[in-house]
Amino acid sequence: MLVEPDKCTACGHDVVAITLMVDGNEMAMNSCENCDTRTWNLGGAPIDLKVVLEQVGTHSGRRR
Ligand SMILES: [Zn+2]
Repeated sequence: MLVEPDKCTACGHDVVAITLMVDGNEMAMNSCENCDTRTWNLGGAPIDLKVVLEQVGTHSGRRR
């Protein structure tokens, strides 16, 4: 499976994508190694980090 690399929206540098499955949806974090800007996608659509945390919190349960 090929994933086209994204470019940083802030500086245009290549970003590193980390994907994980959340409740059957592919969630991706794109992290710029140049300026440390991070963007999130869920199912190919950009989402807020706040939404990400809600999603992950809902499905991963509480850990202590
Ligand atoms: Zn950047």
